[in-house]
Amino acid sequence: MAEALQFDAALLDKYDTRGPRYTSYPAAPQFRPMAEEEYRLLVRAQREHTSDPLSVYVHVPFCRTVCYYCGCNKVVTANYRRAEDYLEVLVQELALQSSLFGLRPQVDQLHFGGGTPTYLKDAELSRLMRALDTALALEPGEAREFSIEIDPRTTDAARIHHLAGLGFNRLSIGVQDFDPAVQQATNRIQSIDQTTEVIDAARQAGFRSINLDLIYGLPLQTRERFAQTLETVIGLRPDRLAVYSYAHLPDRFKVQRQIRAEDLPSAAEKLALLAMTIERLTEAGYVYIGMDHFALPDDELAVALREGTLQRNFQGYATGAGRDLLALGVSAIGRIGPAFAQNHRDVGHWAAEVSLGRIPVAQGLVLDDEDLLRGEIIQALMCGRRLDVRDIEQRYAIEFARHFAPELERLLPLADDGLVAVASDTIEVSDRGRLLLRPIAMAFDAYLHAARSPTEPRYSRVI
Ligand code: SF4
Repeated sequence: MAEALQFDAALLDKYDTRGPRYTSYPAAPQFRPMAEEEYRLLVRAQREHTSDPLSVYVHVPFCRTVCYYCGCNKVVTANYRRAEDYLEVLVQELALQSSLFGLRPQVDQLHFGGGTPTYLKDAELSRLMRALDTALALEPGEAREFSIEIDPRTTDAARIHHLAGLGFNRLSIGVQDFDPAVQQATNRIQSIDQTTEVIDAARQAGFRSINLDLIYGLPLQTRERFAQTLETVIGLRPDRLAVYSYAHLPDRFKVQRQIRAEDLPSAAEKLALLAMTIERLTEAGYVYIGMDHFALPDDELAVALREGTLQRNFQGYATGAGRDLLALGVSAIGRIGPAFAQNHRDVGHWAAEVSLGRIPVAQGLVLDDEDLLRGEIIQALMCGRRLDVRDIEQRYAIEFARHFAPELERLLPLADDGLVAVASDTIEVSDRGRLLLRPIAMAFDAYLHAARSPTEPRYSRVI
């Protein structure tokens, strides 16, 4: 598939504002306190009229050491007892939650994220999978999409085979940068050999998709150094690559204060890193999916992009239609019909709720019609890069130009800059706009532009 990405540094600089990543709309800062009873009623109401398979997300927050760039909700500890205790509570939460969803609901998408899921030892991972398989009907066949984020520093070939035996068939591997100086400056020492070992083992074990995560904009990164990392990564030939922009927010994430601001690449150098990354990956045959994501042309994400079935969810881009997402573990966010629900973000609080026999939900949001409408528009622009205005008018019984007059006004300068083409019956993201999906989507975000938001959330920068 020919790539038509256009890199225009001045344009990217101009639109490098802060904004949500739209893994959900409304974005998580808009969530409000949600009572457990409200959550129970939501699940009951939703599952009364659907028996569609569920997606399940399991959060394992533990890490052995801290990476200085980290902005995740994690627990850094060498005390494995804490993970064992966590697992006990997780299994209890699973029993509480699954009972709401009916008798052994079918699950064909499962994702373990963190933190570091491979912080758990093989025996605990087996126990967790057994508990999941007891409470839920895990899809045994090829149709299953069971993925796990792994840290090659806590995983070897034997563990990969164990994970395959548990049913996992997709891996996501954190790399960030192979350069020793960058690894030193970010406190994440991970050799090429360690990473190669797990990738080779995953291929032998029959994993269907392997994703590598990289980050650009890290301390001491230069084009020369990052070019070497890119060549190594291209040589490893993962099916997917996520290349994230490092967001330096030391006021919000204390651990980032370990990074010396003077070691960070300048804004111009960071843009040059991005340009080089896009150039090398597309030259190497990767398709740009959107917002940080690349995939080989035969990977399911690239196929979904071509077929117009690409979706966006809490893991980034995904295939298939949106379905109910049961989220387990501290801080995990689920989606039940037209509502989002997030568990307590603090392990103690989360565990205390479960021990009292309560679903540990803390906050969430029941989407109103306007949220659903805007969420659909943002999804269409970020995934398919095209909005069918007439279809939206019909299904939501609105007159688009009147309903979205301020939004269309906001799009005018973006249209003048050639990022979008706005016509009476379509809005299309141009090749110039493909790297700026976030600012385009932001035009339709009611919470960013109205007094609906009582506090000003701090989002990461677009680039
Ligand atoms: S980046 Fe990942 S492995 Fe590193 S501290 Fe954060 S959650 Fe843990």
